[in-house]
Amino acid sequence: MLCANSVMQFTLDGAPVRDPMNDQSSSETALVLFSGGQDSTTCLAWALQRFARVEMLGFAYGQRHAIELACRDQLLSGIKSLRPDWASRLGESHTLEIPTLAEISDTALTRDVAIEMGADGLPNTFVPGRNLVFLTFAAALAYRRGIDHIVGGMCETDYSGYPDCRDETIKALQSALNLGMAKNFELHTPLMWLDKASTWKLAHDLGGAGLVDLIREHSHTCYLGERGAQHAWGYGCGECPACALRAKGWREYAA
Ligand code: ZN
Repeated sequence: MLCANSVMQFTLDGAPVRDPMNDQSSSETALVLFSGGQDSTTCLAWALQRFARVEMLGFAYGQRHAIELACRDQLLSGIKSLRPDWASRLGESHTLEIPTLAEISDTALTRDVAIEMGADGLPNTFVPGRNLVFLTFAAALAYRRGIDHIVGGMCETDYSGYPDCRDETIKALQSALNLGMAKNFELHTPLMWLDKASTWKLAHDLGGAGLVDLIREHSHTCYLGERGAQHAWGYGCGECPACALRAKGWREYAA
């Protein structure tokens, strides 16, 4: 849980372990899956607080909300002016085109159809195996760039039932990637056990009201790619499952 991070811990030789919430605790580089949404922006801030250098990876796969990718630049320039110490840690921003994912998917994220629940209990926003593909590409890129830490916004608490967001799935994939690439990758999922209200609070803990405002204004979560109407929690249609979760989390956070 998040609160465990604030407990002072000691290593075997008695030296205090630095608090990862308040201090840069690693001289290493991390690669963050950064789509421009609320969750991945919070993960980016988490990584910037923790790692000496942070690179970003986004995917273009014909998703309906390609607008998320367009939000990335605004978020990055906002983060740079908000925190000069973070700006100096920001490294390359990568984008990988994987249109194949849309070709083999038949979902509401890649086609212009209504979002609804399928007979299997999953919303038709589910792109089968999407996070497995993303993390595998991330690991391949990390391998090439000599990076051991990969950070993703997967979350088991407030989610749409996607099986590739589960902690068990991520742990199994970490094992498979390390076996298959003969590496010691660590897959970090700082939001895994947080609900959406706690994710807003984490953003505040990391970057204060400035970061919360930046995420509200410029991050994008709506499945429909709607940015016309501005709500207290940001832009979006207000109706789709992603907007509903984001709005509910904001109400609980702001209460
Ligand atoms: Zn929406």
